[in-house]
Amino acid sequence: MFFNNTNMSIVENLKKIKEQLPANVTLVAVSKTYPAEDVLVAYNEGQRVFGENKPQEMTAKQTILPDDIQWHMIGNLQTNKVRMIIPYVAMIESVSSLRLLQTIDKEAERVGRCVDILFEVHIAEEDSKMGWNTQEFLEYMKSEQWRELKNVTPRGVMGMATFTDNQDIVRAEFRTLSDMFRVLKEQYFAEDSRFDTISMGMSGDWKLAIEEGSTQIRVGSAIFGARNYSK
Ligand SMILES: *Cc1c(COP(=O)(O)O)cnc(C)c1O
Repeated sequence: MFFNNTNMSIVENLKKIKEQLPANVTLVAVSKTYPAEDVLVAYNEGQRVFGENKPQEMTAKQTILPDDIQWHMIGNLQTNKVRMIIPYVAMIESVSSLRLLQTIDKEAERVGRCVDILFEVHIAEEDSKMGWNTQEFLEYMKSEQWRELKNVTPRGVMGMATFTDNQDIVRAEFRTLSDMFRVLKEQYFAEDSRFDTISMGMSGDWKLAIEEGSTQIRVGSAIFGARNYSK
């Protein structure tokens, strides 16, 4: 592809999205596959929260970019990669199993941190999408065993809708996640103001997600341009 992003278009794309964001919604700029220079362009526009889906790539960028960037892990995370990111990661959004949750807690304890996490729940029709099986997740929450984990702070839920043009399906899946958040909030986190995040919505569906209650959107290509996975 010969499509080349100028710095100008990153700035303009970012401005356009931020103009439309309600005050309670956080924008995670998803910088996976884009170079550190592109992150810096967005940073210089005031963007501080960035999302990556690979521990190595995130760590490589974190090492050379400003310290006040808040890095969010949003991709499938293997337990043996937790140690690499735990010293600096601001939020792990993709906590999709008990084993991963326990590993994060253990590794965070080792470095003396308490790390913000989101429970990534499977809301899509597709089998391919990651996420905690809804029923298993709800059973685990009911057990209240998670209260014993002292080095993670549950901040809310994350989900990905089915990749489809059918807006009704996407809307219904977002609503499922919002409803689940409300139930969890009521049953387990009523007294905990830190449990406040519904992370849903990407480049193609973030407006819909906000209509359905999203408080955190994860937008990549609508800011940085079409992604070149072959890089
Ligand atoms: C890549 C990715 C995004 C952003 O996707 P875009 O369509 O480029 O906005 C959001 N969430 C997750 C989990 C991703 O992997």
